[in-house]
Amino acid sequence: MKILLLGKNGQVGWELQRALAPLGEVVALDRQGADGLCGDLADLDGLAATVRQLAPELIVNAAAYTAVDKAESEESVAARINAEAPGVLAREAAALGAWLIHYSTDYVFDGSGQSKWQEDAPTGPLSVYGRSKLDGERAIAASGARAVVLRTSWVYAARGHNFAKTMLCLAAERDVLNVVADQFGAPTGAELIADVTAHIIRQVTNQQDSHSLAGTYHLTASGETSWHGFAQFVLAYASQKGIALRVAPERIGAISTEAYPVPAPRPHNSRLDVSKLEGTFKLKMPLWQQGVQRMLDEIL
Ligand code: NDP
Repeated sequence: MKILLLGKNGQVGWELQRALAPLGEVVALDRQGADGLCGDLADLDGLAATVRQLAPELIVNAAAYTAVDKAESEESVAARINAEAPGVLAREAAALGAWLIHYSTDYVFDGSGQSKWQEDAPTGPLSVYGRSKLDGERAIAASGARAVVLRTSWVYAARGHNFAKTMLCLAAERDVLNVVADQFGAPTGAELIADVTAHIIRQVTNQQDSHSLAGTYHLTASGETSWHGFAQFVLAYASQKGIALRVAPERIGAISTEAYPVPAPRPHNSRLDVSKLEGTFKLKMPLWQQGVQRMLDEIL
């Protein structure tokens, strides 16, 4: 099976390079492209030409404009990369009869209430980024392509920057650390997302009548916490491992969203219900602590 992977060096893209490797011939591109192939999602014609030239049986799009705050002042760039480009990929996939796997976000919801969001709950993005991702979902749905859209949340990876690393640095340098305590979700490892993606691909490409598997699914670790709870877990684990910190986990201040102003509004409730994914693909999402602990074991 020939697989086109876009965004190969992002958090999820990097892990997908590993997880997709045993499934077939993976052509993995970043924004720079390779061998005359275009991997830049801002170049819609180049992207379409690349899909036609390669004629993959599967496209996995891990590339996205993910600078949530910057998107507030770069609406057209975010729209091109997060909405128009996925539309192009989906239409090209439909023309080829290829599957498309794409990622979306809890930010398509307005964050109200305290229940877990199901896939068909009404959307209401609060930010430019959230709207651009929702428009991407809609463009894919309108294309008629066989597509799986995986909405995830609070993604971290051992590689590159992440919230846990930031907390560890701040707790080592400062005497006071305040973290938002009224936004709830599930920290989800890029490894888990990539591994679940590979399971899904096995099923959609091997199962008879797999057309019925197309659709939107929520993919996060199970359980829930706040950013404050996440930070406490990280610092508690680090001190258990003997890392010197100036702020003890129990001394992290719990602040409200309003006390930490950022350009793009964040949803308070990012809890995603993963039962559709678990039921359809016969999977069981691990608790968020498990993946975070593994990541900390790698970086500490
Ligand atoms: P990252 O920001 O780690 O990776 C995104 C990748 O997209 C980067 O490698 C970036 O490359 C690339 N990219 C940006 N612009 C372009 C472009 N014009 N052409 C080609 N590539 C481009 O994101 P994640 O891996 O965390 O996200 C994966 C998916 O999950 C995305 O769809 C995202 O919207 C979604 N998601 C992420 C969440 C999170 O917390 N991170 C939460 C919920 C959903 P470069 O480094 O060159 O900019």
